[in-house]
Amino acid sequence: MDSAVTNLKNTRSYDFIIAGAGCAGLSLLYHLLQSPLLRHKRILVIDKNFKKSNDRTWCYWEDTAGAFEQLVCKKWDTITIHNGSLSKTLPTAPFTYKMVQGIDYYHYIINLAKQHLNITWQEGLITKITTTGTIGTVHLQGGTSESATSVFSSIVPIQFQVNFSDVNNKFNAAITNTSTPFLWQHFKGILVEFDTSVFNENEARLMDFNVPQMGATAFMYILPLTDKKALVEYTLFSEKILVKTEYDNVLSNYLADFIKTNYPQAQYTIVHEELGAIPMTQHKFEQMNSPIYSIGTLSGAVKASTGYAFQFIQAQSRQIVSQLEKGALINTQMHNTRHRFYDAVLLYILKNKKMEGKEIFSRIFKNNKAATIFKFLSNTSSLMDDINVMRSLPTHIFLPAALRIIFRRP
Ligand SMILES: Cc1cc2nc3c(=O)[nH]c(=O)nc-3n(C[C@H](O)[C@H](O)[C@H](O)COP(=O)(O)OP(=O)(O)OC[C@H]3O[C@@H](n4cnc5c(N)ncnc54)[C@H](O)[C@@H]3O)c2cc1C
Repeated sequence: MDSAVTNLKNTRSYDFIIAGAGCAGLSLLYHLLQSPLLRHKRILVIDKNFKKSNDRTWCYWEDTAGAFEQLVCKKWDTITIHNGSLSKTLPTAPFTYKMVQGIDYYHYIINLAKQHLNITWQEGLITKITTTGTIGTVHLQGGTSESATSVFSSIVPIQFQVNFSDVNNKFNAAITNTSTPFLWQHFKGILVEFDTSVFNENEARLMDFNVPQMGATAFMYILPLTDKKALVEYTLFSEKILVKTEYDNVLSNYLADFIKTNYPQAQYTIVHEELGAIPMTQHKFEQMNSPIYSIGTLSGAVKASTGYAFQFIQAQSRQIVSQLEKGALINTQMHNTRHRFYDAVLLYILKNKKMEGKEIFSRIFKNNKAATIFKFLSNTSSLMDDINVMRSLPTHIFLPAALRIIFRRP
């Protein structure tokens, strides 16, 4: 980051430190800047690297135009699900499925925040965060530290940060030591551009289970940006991530199959690649107490059963801002007890292979409207909605799993 990194830094004490300027850190910054009561606070934003790349695309659903509507690069109002001979097309109304490019999000918020001289930017590797009395202190590599009345951290412990080049797979070892179920949602996506029209750009192929399952839950999704260009992503829920060539092989075979019948002459080039791993767990990464608060993935904002987090992170940021405005206790917990329970049951079933993930999700999508499922996955469903979703699933598998969670048996 250019001149803003060297932004005026004339004292060493802040109201808020935002430790980690990824999705959660920047979202909190954005929402703080929307608040007339808080936007003038002295805020320090620290990240190990402000030179952001387009390292992820965020998809989410909304039934209105949201705060980041101008950043939405594509939206769909139809999704499809595929499993064997099942091919189901579902209208998403009243929701729209939307996509935002990571780089657009980072730039938008950083550029907006640069206009505020009360915000200081510091590039540095955070080594630890400590509390002295009521003050939170962030320690940086090199021995310097910065203090604030409140610190909001999204720094996930290093052993849970997936590095796809780490041949020793330390992060895989880390999850086997957690007492709560832990899967990775890991994926490789390629943005492909064809020389001819091959996609229906109005339809998002949300889950196509007709791919190698690798002993886990695996699916492909195709999010077309135009009739020639789409993000094609091979996603798995499992304990171990793959080596890069395994994702590549599945992606290239899938695309070959996709064009074989209708567009045998079509050629494509790969414009961009995205590799990622999202923790699917209710494991508490770190115990944090006032004045240090966890946000984003670190705080469990990721929905354990799906890996979706973008909208939960927005809700969390709004919740924190509202609590700060009222001088209330800060609570960054996002998922309510009822939906946490459903997530725990599903995670238990997937981890212990009580039922194949492709069967579970196919049954849910086969028997319910997309809107009901979206509400269920957003934690906004009514009890009646939940019952409808659960009716799609076999009681003899889900009831024992639910009882195990209730009675906390491993
Ligand atoms: C590739 C990918 C695609 C995703 N797609 C979706 C999606 O479509 N929909 C959805 O809802 N969710 C999605 N997610 C899940 C979730 O929304 C994202 O992971 C989101 O970025 C989480 O936000 P965060 O702030 O917790 O973590 P991050 O965005 O990863 O931010 C953490 C920040 O901390 C910094 N940092 C880390 N360690 C240190 C350190 N020691 N010192 C200083 N800085 C440090 C990093 O540089 C980074 O900027 C996706 C995740 C990934 C990885």
